[in-house]
Amino acid sequence: MKLKEAVSLRDKLARSIDSPAEILRGSLLHRTIRHKKGCQTCARGGGHPAWVLSINYAGGRNKQISIRPEEKEQVERWLANYHELRETLESICELNHVVLRPGD
Ligand SMILES: [Zn+2]
Repeated sequence: MKLKEAVSLRDKLARSIDSPAEILRGSLLHRTIRHKKGCQTCARGGGHPAWVLSINYAGGRNKQISIRPEEKEQVERWLANYHELRETLESICELNHVVLRPGD
């Protein structure tokens, strides 16, 4: 790829980035909470759906945040936003390799 082409593609990607406000990193995990006693739903073999946002950090640390059912869609959207943003940033970094070493 030529330098001019790489710069133009890079700048186009950079301009495509929206305000990176609604983003979240992590994985949304589904859990079923089952009460041992005193709960009709669980006594009937049901259980209560629950979601947890699990975030891993460098060094193996992990944080978990419980997500209310009504927050689930928003969390999924914000996770998708983060994923998309990260892919765009990664592409920009790759194009900058060409910008640094256009001949290679
Ligand atoms: Zn229960």
